[in-house]
Amino acid sequence: MALLQIAEPGQSAAPHQHKLAVGIDLGTTNSLVATVKSGEAVTLPDEQGGHILPSVVRYLSCGRKEVGAKAREAASEDPFNTIVSVKRLMGRGVEDVRSLGSEAPYHFIAGENGMPFIETVVGNKSPVQVSADILSVLLNRAEDSLGGELTGAVITVPAYFDEAQRQATKDAATLANIKVLRLLNEPTAAAVAYGLDQGGEGVIAVYDLGGGTFDISILRLNKGVFEVLATGGDSALGGDDFDLALAHWLADQAGIGADIDTALARYLTEKARDVKEALTDSDAVVADLNFARHSSSVAVTREQFDALVEKLVSRTLRACKRTLKDSGVDAGEVQDVVMVGGSTRVPLVRAKVSEFFGREPHIDIDPDRVVAIGASIQADVLAGNKPDSDMLLLDVIPLSLGLETMGGLAEKVIHRNTSIPVGRAQEFTTYQDGQTAMAIHVVQGEREMVEDCRSLARFVLRGIPPMAAGAAKIRVTFQVDADGLLNVSAKELSTGTESSIQVKPSYGLSDGQIATMLQESYSTAQEDLDKRRLREQQVEADRLLVALEQAIEADGDALLNDEERAMLQSEMAQLLKLRNGADADAIEKGIVVLSNESDFFASRRMDHGIQKALQGHTIDEIEEKK
Ligand code: ADP
Ligand code: MG
Repeated sequence: MALLQIAEPGQSAAPHQHKLAVGIDLGTTNSLVATVKSGEAVTLPDEQGGHILPSVVRYLSCGRKEVGAKAREAASEDPFNTIVSVKRLMGRGVEDVRSLGSEAPYHFIAGENGMPFIETVVGNKSPVQVSADILSVLLNRAEDSLGGELTGAVITVPAYFDEAQRQATKDAATLANIKVLRLLNEPTAAAVAYGLDQGGEGVIAVYDLGGGTFDISILRLNKGVFEVLATGGDSALGGDDFDLALAHWLADQAGIGADIDTALARYLTEKARDVKEALTDSDAVVADLNFARHSSSVAVTREQFDALVEKLVSRTLRACKRTLKDSGVDAGEVQDVVMVGGSTRVPLVRAKVSEFFGREPHIDIDPDRVVAIGASIQADVLAGNKPDSDMLLLDVIPLSLGLETMGGLAEKVIHRNTSIPVGRAQEFTTYQDGQTAMAIHVVQGEREMVEDCRSLARFVLRGIPPMAAGAAKIRVTFQVDADGLLNVSAKELSTGTESSIQVKPSYGLSDGQIATMLQESYSTAQEDLDKRRLREQQVEADRLLVALEQAIEADGDALLNDEERAMLQSEMAQLLKLRNGADADAIEKGIVVLSNESDFFASRRMDHGIQKALQGHTIDEIEEKK
């Protein structure tokens, strides 16, 4: 009798069935969803045929919510219940978001762990919830147009997003009931969309000018691995600034005075945005301004617009220059330039960028769809729809991860720009005799001192068997998964005692802070090294002083005469004085002096110890034990 084959629950009986997987570009200004259909990556439209979903959510008192264009239109009349640019708030603490000022003009309330909530008519909303509301709309759109249930999604994030920001993005997906196949760096997704991962090796620049942010990423493609050589940009520079510059100019031309209130300002910038977008395809546009009792028409030429935004475009190029310098490659070595973001449609931007890199940038794929397209190609592979694809896509961690060691020093375990997923282990030891617990403090950043890095998590490894200082071996393992999320575990090797933590900070760093931290680490590298050496010598001095103190306490009466004891104590006072100063060399010398001066005491203690051990035992007994 033939056996019937039955598939595992949840596993398809037909292994070649196409799984529905999408790529989602969850943007600051606009979001999109894309999928691979019959071998071609396409973005999915809503019922009205629009592909771009403005990343705006409006909460209405009736409990309904609007997401997208309709919400964006209401932003000026209902600013506090209409959340724009929520991506800027993801993974940040309440202090961080309050400091954004007019960029985030909401009423914030601090929740647990300093997590910010936005006060709205329907209650307090966390940035994660607002993002989840945007993702839900995209999920529904995908399931409606694909006619089936989604297997999962690849969601893109900026390359510089830290642990907290990535985690917040993942949390939003979970809340929206979307299985995250992978978080993917936006520039990597853009490069994939152009198939650059298939083209061999080389340096790629991804220039991404969106609505409110500018990002430049320098990638190196090496054996199918995308390495991020450097990222840079400006988190407060984008198409919105073009709108603002044009809005001021329009107000001037129309003779609108100084008393522009919030609503009028929003009206003018929305008008300016329409004019700006129209100027991409036309040489001149007439702006009709109608509000309250005012009515006028202002003609704008592309040349006039170019003059207004020229300075802003130059700012992006200066950031490109800095970032190239950080990455250590010349503009001439860049093989491909990829344009991303709606604002790269502006003809002046294209012209300036191609002039800067000395080559024509890739613009064939719609710049506001290219990230979603690349993400969908990756999603298709991850969902198992392309079993013979060997596309191996790796991203990197944006900031180094490490541990606090004695003296407040940061020991890097995984360096910045290491490809993920990655696991690294490092062995540490105890500082004191008989130490049975070890405080593990996980930090992120490039600087030498813990106080200059960001604290990610703390946990304690207990149950270390008491041993002499330096004898215990504790292996600390850092594991970063493909989404850039960190897991840290510590294990005492002789007993196997283990302790671990999933690093899940409640909020994160602002990208501005990341930029500043990186900047500082470059400009203060020497100063940091000096500081590090000083700390190391201080730790050494402390170790010697504590050991001697304990030795005198234990055996001073038996083994030292008054004169010797006084000599040692005065030498110790001498070293303590040096230790509290700032001269690392002097401390190092002082340590040598005190060690030499106390050598006699150490050897007496050793003899004494052996004698004590031998007391009451016969030589034979000792021989037997060997
Ligand atoms: P984000 O990545 O921040 O979500 P996008 O990449 O969608 O943003 O870019 C949005 C910006 O692109 C807006 O400032 C918008 O005005 C601008 N933009 C869109 N289309 C055009 C166009 N045709 N010409 C000029 N700017 C445009
Ligand atoms: Mg974008």
